[in-house]
Amino acid sequence: MQKTAIVIGAGITGISAAEWLRRAGVSVTVIDRIDPGTADQASYGNAGLLARAAVIPVSEPGLMAKAPGMLLDPDSPLFLKWRYLPRLLPWLLPFLRNGRIDRIEKITTALAALTHDAVDQHLALAKGTPAAAYIKTGDYAFYYRSRKDFTKDAYGMELRRQAGFEACELDRAALIERDPEVSPAYTFAALFPDHGWLTSPGDYVAALAAHFIAEGGVFKKAEVADIADGQVTLSDGTTLTADKIVLAAGAWSGKLGKKLRQKPMLEAERGYHLYLKGASYLPPSPFMVSDAKFVVTPMQDGLRCAGIVEFGGLTAPASKAPIALLKKRIKQVYPDLTWQSEEVWMGHRPSTPDSLPHLGALKDAPNVICAFGSQHIGLTIGPKLGRMVAGLVIGNHSNIDLAPYGPNRFG
Ligand SMILES: Cc1cc2nc3c(=O)[nH]c(=O)nc-3n(C[C@H](O)[C@H](O)[C@H](O)COP(=O)(O)OP(=O)(O)OC[C@H]3O[C@@H](n4cnc5c(N)ncnc54)[C@H](O)[C@@H]3O)c2cc1C
Repeated sequence: MQKTAIVIGAGITGISAAEWLRRAGVSVTVIDRIDPGTADQASYGNAGLLARAAVIPVSEPGLMAKAPGMLLDPDSPLFLKWRYLPRLLPWLLPFLRNGRIDRIEKITTALAALTHDAVDQHLALAKGTPAAAYIKTGDYAFYYRSRKDFTKDAYGMELRRQAGFEACELDRAALIERDPEVSPAYTFAALFPDHGWLTSPGDYVAALAAHFIAEGGVFKKAEVADIADGQVTLSDGTTLTADKIVLAAGAWSGKLGKKLRQKPMLEAERGYHLYLKGASYLPPSPFMVSDAKFVVTPMQDGLRCAGIVEFGGLTAPASKAPIALLKKRIKQVYPDLTWQSEEVWMGHRPSTPDSLPHLGALKDAPNVICAFGSQHIGLTIGPKLGRMVAGLVIGNHSNIDLAPYGPNRFG
């Protein structure tokens, strides 16, 4: 008999899982309260980067000492809604503990297993669909004010090198050959080849979803109110059952996980974008502004600047200061840049204390497969996670050790 699956969440993770499940012969229904690829999902507004070399966990050594100063510095990319702090602490403490060197090296290995073939995974998922038109391949660079600033990143660069990602170093002359408009304030860059990016992440997810539906997949626009082993209940009281339920609800997965008495340890790491539409200049490929920690990506309508970490939960409204900071910082990178209109956006990264996603069946609900918690690299690894989910459902296991991503690892 044909297997059935319900996927909760139509972001990049859920749609990738649904499409790989469909290709594997499973009868799939995706449920989301919004249309795929629209602004309330993280998959819409990210920096579009297929960041193969993003293998460094978010928590790093010395962060505990640095964080208070960063929070007080209006030019720092870290923000906190202070009244949220008590609710953040149960997540924050294990997050900081994961910044120890011995943990970082293990996490880097587990992240690299998911990122290393990310561009190929996107190409394989999008092949033969209209989504393929949104994928670009090329370099990903880190821009620094000086070589000295680059040397401060030596530990991260060494971890990337050990994971197989070697950077090519560019001095100011080589940097302006690549990117002639960049301000004289930036004199050094590290360039990682063989990366990729999307020219419109929201349209990409929408195109994948349209293909999934055109090929026989089902999309249901509804809110999932409850979840049990092999069953979901919608907010109108309807109950749906399937052989497997895939929980891919991004930063909201924790709320549904609690219904299963799970402790997924998930936090919404809020991030922002400033999309400069009709920008007068576009760089050849994306780059990270290392001192300001945001990514600049050439996209179909202009230049997207995306980054910032703000802790404030799922329901608080967007803040103004992060966007003002992005605007100030992009003018430091491209002093002569002009644009016609702006789109500002805030989204929720689904982040775990150890920067690793939850992937796999729950111990007490073996027909629920978790696929969430991809933090800053959810777009990058979405297609691979989706393929691994399909493998778990049809019993075609990958050769990757799944233990580091176990959804019961936080107890
Ligand atoms: C500013 C910023 C920049 C980023 N840049 C990058 C980048 O360059 N590269 C990269 O790899 N990653 C990046 N990320 C991270 C990436 O965007 C996310 O990790 C990824 O999009 C998460 O995808 P997802 O499908 O798991 O969740 P989402 O895209 O958030 O989708 C979750 C879906 O679940 C639905 N849902 C939730 N609860 C329910 C419910 N109860 N009932 C029905 N539906 C429900 C939601 O409506 C939503 O559509 C960035 C994130 C931010 C915020």
